[in-house]
Amino acid sequence: MKLFNTLTRYKEDFKPITEGHVKMYACGPTVYNYFHLGNARPFVTFDTLRRYLEYRGYEVEFCQNFTDIDDKMINRAKEEGVTVKDIADKYIAEYYVDADGLNCLRPTYQPRATESIDAIIGIVQALYDKGIAYVIEGDGVYYDVSKDEHYGKLSHYKLDELVAGGGERGASYEGKKNPGDFAIWKFKKEGEPFWDSPWGEGRPGWHIECSAMIKKHLGDTIDIHGGGQDLIFPHHENEIAQSECANGCTLANYWVHNAFVNVDGEKMSKSLGNFFTIRDIVAHFPYPVIRFFILTGHYRMPINFSDELLRAAQTSLQRISTCAANLKFNLEGDAEGDDSADEELIKAVEESKNSFIAHMDDDLNTADAITDIFGLVKTANTAVSSGKASKAALKQAYDTLLEITGVLGIELSAEEDNGIPAEITELVEQRAAAKKNKDFAEADRIRDLITSKGYSVKDTPQGPQVEKL
Ligand SMILES: [Zn+2]
Repeated sequence: MKLFNTLTRYKEDFKPITEGHVKMYACGPTVYNYFHLGNARPFVTFDTLRRYLEYRGYEVEFCQNFTDIDDKMINRAKEEGVTVKDIADKYIAEYYVDADGLNCLRPTYQPRATESIDAIIGIVQALYDKGIAYVIEGDGVYYDVSKDEHYGKLSHYKLDELVAGGGERGASYEGKKNPGDFAIWKFKKEGEPFWDSPWGEGRPGWHIECSAMIKKHLGDTIDIHGGGQDLIFPHHENEIAQSECANGCTLANYWVHNAFVNVDGEKMSKSLGNFFTIRDIVAHFPYPVIRFFILTGHYRMPINFSDELLRAAQTSLQRISTCAANLKFNLEGDAEGDDSADEELIKAVEESKNSFIAHMDDDLNTADAITDIFGLVKTANTAVSSGKASKAALKQAYDTLLEITGVLGIELSAEEDNGIPAEITELVEQRAAAKKNKDFAEADRIRDLITSKGYSVKDTPQGPQVEKL
């Protein structure tokens, strides 16, 4: 498999440190609110990368954290008059509602920053002992970027071009040795949560949290580090700086970054106020449609959000589900087609699958992989309507369709069940019973009732077939 590595700016062959095993980390959410579609993109992207690596036979150890202590968390807790932990507990629970809905597999490790304070202090201590970190009295412990000759290697910025990676407390902060220095430990302020440290009570800086959780759960060097492209600088640059100076080795061999979700050409973000939470969107479109929509674009290309594009994604996904339902229906029915189209069908199914794998191998190109799925749908639909394929061949098409959509985390069986409500299935059964009893007036009455509810029922040699109108 090839992956585009932000570090080298090349698509590279992926080779894990240990054969057959992948250690992967992705920066998780700051849990002070529901997450929006722009936040969801990395969750779905790295879940898909993990699923694909597993599909290709790797054992994947995947860690995605929760940032449960920072200024936004503290402010939110103050606004609501509750503790920071209350906010974290609430929005971690809400995170799981949406992440599970989007069918993101639970990561192997999902630590909270506040459960990793020992590991954080360990890295601060290592940097302090090496003379790379220094204390600003009454403020915190800072990372001295001038002591790190490799600083800027991910973002490809030169140190003298850098404008204050430290962020929160400003470039011109007078106690800093260099404008780019950033806090790794922040001394306690009144009313804020704090922990003991050798330098005084306080809390961790944001960047050091990820460095610590990677070391604690995956080790000093990992295979893949992922995140949104807005994290390249300063967050990932600073993770590299801290980890590599403290541990004396490479932090991650491949840095993978997804592009933004845009609204009218602008990045969707809380600060711009143009964001839609997944919870907002799911009131109009089911979770699988949102996941499918995210995957219709290549992860390194921006995707545009609009109602229209989501509706298009819904229709596309429905086409795939309908194909799966038709295949299943034919497999379960009594009629057996002849096998004159088998050879052609099986060849086309295998070609679609090979092409799907080739596209996924090429830097996780889900956009073209989805085109391959539609190729398979078209082939399968033709075979079904011709009636010239055997059940064995149709079964191969059906299994392959489920297999490759499953790699993307799209579960068609769930879609089918959702497609036809239990109420309609019940009516179809009542109608079949009425027909069996030769009560045709009742059967017709039920058929009209089904139609009035937006579904059609068609009698076929395999039994009644239901479709949404
Ligand atoms: Zn991070």
